[in-house]
Amino acid sequence: MEHWQQLLRGSLTKPEEIAKRFDLDVEEVKKVAEVFQFRITPYYASLIKEKGDPIYRQIVPDVEELAEKSGIADPLSEDKDSPVPSIVHRYPDRVLFLVSHSCASYCRFCTRKRKVGNSDKINPRHIDAGIEYIRQHSEIRDVIVSGGDPLMLADSKLEYILSSLRSIKHIEIIRIGSRVPCFLPQRVTPELVNMLKKYHPLYMNVHFNHPDEITEESSRALNLLADAGIPLGNQTVLLKGVNDNPETMKRLMQKLLTVRVRPYYIYQADYVQGTGYLRTRVEKGLEIMQALRGWTSGLAVPAFVIDAPGGGGKIPLLPEYVQSVDDEKVVMRNYKGELFVYPQESKAGSPSVPANAHKAPRCPALEAFPELEEIIC
Ligand SMILES: *Cc1c(COP(=O)(O)O)cnc(C)c1O
Ligand code: SF4
Repeated sequence: MEHWQQLLRGSLTKPEEIAKRFDLDVEEVKKVAEVFQFRITPYYASLIKEKGDPIYRQIVPDVEELAEKSGIADPLSEDKDSPVPSIVHRYPDRVLFLVSHSCASYCRFCTRKRKVGNSDKINPRHIDAGIEYIRQHSEIRDVIVSGGDPLMLADSKLEYILSSLRSIKHIEIIRIGSRVPCFLPQRVTPELVNMLKKYHPLYMNVHFNHPDEITEESSRALNLLADAGIPLGNQTVLLKGVNDNPETMKRLMQKLLTVRVRPYYIYQADYVQGTGYLRTRVEKGLEIMQALRGWTSGLAVPAFVIDAPGGGGKIPLLPEYVQSVDDEKVVMRNYKGELFVYPQESKAGSPSVPANAHKAPRCPALEAFPELEEIIC
């Protein structure tokens, strides 16, 4: 057995263990555990500093999970877009390929809370049908290998999947989505990365939600992956009491860049049954985006998206930078909230305002629009 598998075996998986460790009512933990899967690796549990902190809230079962009635079991209607059990085919040129039901630890806010940890719902016997589906659909050029967590599979099983995908001519890129570098970084071994790098172009999206998750151990794992030439992105879920303030989120994005991970998405928490106590209002995400753009490196600014309930896909949301657009000009706000004007090309092709309009000493760019100067200077 590999070292990481031994570590995984030492995870907290029994209600009694959780109750004892965090001073909880064992009957309550049992009730939650009957409905939703849980597991906490010893490494991730060691990052908890106190009950209720941002690490704790992500993985310790909470009676609040049973209280909520408003969420939806399959909020993204993935099951509707699933031609075979292991595939979600929603977008024209790419698919989600679910290859593992298991995760190193189980996030309380998981979108696939109804499925993860359940081998009836995500099962290895569906893998070949998934590969066959991808082979039959030549419009697919990008496969996102997900689950559960694909890095929970043994190297040989994962290699079978990657090499099968690589044998399909129309597959240009492969992406792996994994929270293992955050939950169980010891699983990222030299053997694993040597195998992965045979299947380039291979991308990986990891999942970190709080700056305290970027430790010496996780940095080691991320650096190994980056050294193997795997471009790393990060997906963060916006969560109440975890990362729902601009300072925490900015620090997380900056720290990710120091370990060569490029922030990719911040997700509004999905409308999943049993996760209401972790959801924020949407304005919080907009406030965070406003606090990132311009105030720190553009590389540290991901897209803020809502994966639309009902299966609409990911929709980006931005604070209002565009004030107005008309035939003559675009009026915009910069990151500090100051107004600026960009003169439009006239529809005939020549600029509709003098080229030196932006050189006016006071209120640059506005000279050509005296009517605006009154309003915004
Ligand atoms: C998120 C997602 C993708 C990938 O979307 P990108 O914006 O390309 O990263 C593909 N398929 C499904 C079903 C998804 O949910
Ligand atoms: S690691 Fe991903 S799939 Fe697994 S429980 Fe967390 S969010 Fe869900």
